[in-house]
Amino acid sequence: MSTGFRFDRLFIGGAWVAPIDGGVRPSIDPATGQPWGDVAYGGARDIDAAVAAAKAAFEGPWRRMPPWERAALLRKFADLYATQVGALAEVETRDNGRAVRESRGDIGLHAQYYHWFASLADKLGGRTIPMDDSVHAFTTRHPVGVVGAITPWNVPLMAAAWKLGPALAAGCTVVLKPAEQTPASSLALAHLFEEAGFPPGVVNVVPGDGPVAGARLVEHPDVAKISFTGEGTTAKTILKAGADTLTRCTFELGGKAPHILFADADLDQALNAATGSAWALCGQSCALGSRVLVERPVYDKVVEAFRARAARVRVGIPLDPATHMGPQAHQQQLEKTLSYVSIGRAEGAELITGGARIDRDGLADGYFVEPTVFAGVSANMRIAQEEIFGPVAAIIPFDGEDEAVSIANSTPYGLAAGLWTRDTGRAHRVAARIEAGMVWVNTYRYIRWSTPYGGVKASGWGRENGIEGLDPFLETKTTIVSTTGTFA
Ligand code: NAD
Repeated sequence: MSTGFRFDRLFIGGAWVAPIDGGVRPSIDPATGQPWGDVAYGGARDIDAAVAAAKAAFEGPWRRMPPWERAALLRKFADLYATQVGALAEVETRDNGRAVRESRGDIGLHAQYYHWFASLADKLGGRTIPMDDSVHAFTTRHPVGVVGAITPWNVPLMAAAWKLGPALAAGCTVVLKPAEQTPASSLALAHLFEEAGFPPGVVNVVPGDGPVAGARLVEHPDVAKISFTGEGTTAKTILKAGADTLTRCTFELGGKAPHILFADADLDQALNAATGSAWALCGQSCALGSRVLVERPVYDKVVEAFRARAARVRVGIPLDPATHMGPQAHQQQLEKTLSYVSIGRAEGAELITGGARIDRDGLADGYFVEPTVFAGVSANMRIAQEEIFGPVAAIIPFDGEDEAVSIANSTPYGLAAGLWTRDTGRAHRVAARIEAGMVWVNTYRYIRWSTPYGGVKASGWGRENGIEGLDPFLETKTTIVSTTGTFA
């Protein structure tokens, strides 16, 4: 490990501690299928210790700290983060196989997220409410308490930034539980919180298995809120497990985003976005345009362009800066992707290119799969309805706005959508009718700290980022004062 971070301890209460009922186990490099480092994981008692530390910090130093000092600490952390982009990207790429050029680009933005939330920390005032003359009424906003942040394997540091930034700005303390497949980068993050001088217990990092460490975090009576990113089935388990404690939950879940190309679009730009989005992160991101809806007059041209551009994707060792696309992040995901290729074929979709595991020299032991394109897909096929999470584009032809909208809205998901047209009126009409938390017009996956992100339907509850991203971490208290002391 060249990065200088240690991964063989949990970060609890400001100290690096050995797991009580967990241990240390290898983390697998998906490019080789081999272990690349040993990483600590915790069990229920480790989570209990982390929650106790977070609770003590919440009731003690963190709550007493003026918000502008909290903001200053977050800014210091953000500056430190910015100096470590290369090292963090290396760790994340070793763990989940994402091409390093991509992880550098994404992680290079995270400091801005922390800076932006730092800038809000001392501006979380309430409002005054007009009443009659003898009554003054106002609201104040308060942190909910200890937050359990549970993150997925595809974008561990981004998911952490979207939760830790607003939670800390709001005055909460956090126990972060990263996915079992990709725990290392979250422990690297803990080093930076330690170095920035956060009081012990404000941020705790405990990797561990979902059904053990994650489940304990959810059912713990001292955890006020769970901020979760992952699969819908896990979200339902969490919701049931948190019912007895009435734990607040926000969920960022899966997607099957429609990327709609109208015939009047700037096709070159649209194709750059559509093909780039189909294979980014090896297809492992919730907002990728995995359904490409193409208006019939340009359908053949788009299918041909997808074929040609797939051939130009450089699949390779993810730490090589020239690589466009790395492997799938773990073996189960590889198997899932390949199984959907079989499903698509059986359903009668036309496999234009790709569809196989890559077994050429140097890549044969990793979880590499070819960039894959299905054309002639109909909206009701499973490859158009279900989240594959692999580099598989499903191209669906359509005629006119109404059909585009109807296909776009035909899945259980509603996270994101994109549309390309030169007709401004159409852009507004279609964007307004699409059931999604986010719609991009003549751009795609433009995601920033200041714009709310999240889904409708089966894609989740709540928003991350933007000013709205703070709401789930705050409670509103209403105070009503009689200035005369009379009881009416
Ligand atoms: P997952 O649900 O399997 O795991 C996510 C996290 O939940 C992991 O940390 C895991 O350990 C934990 N977990 C598992 N069982 C648990 C339990 N019983 N109690 C508490 N925690 C538990 O998801 P994944 O496979 O890691 O991630 C991929 C999914 O995440 C995809 O569906 C993807 O679309 C979604 N995702 C959504 C967004 C978004 O912003 N909407 C972003 C990234 C990923």
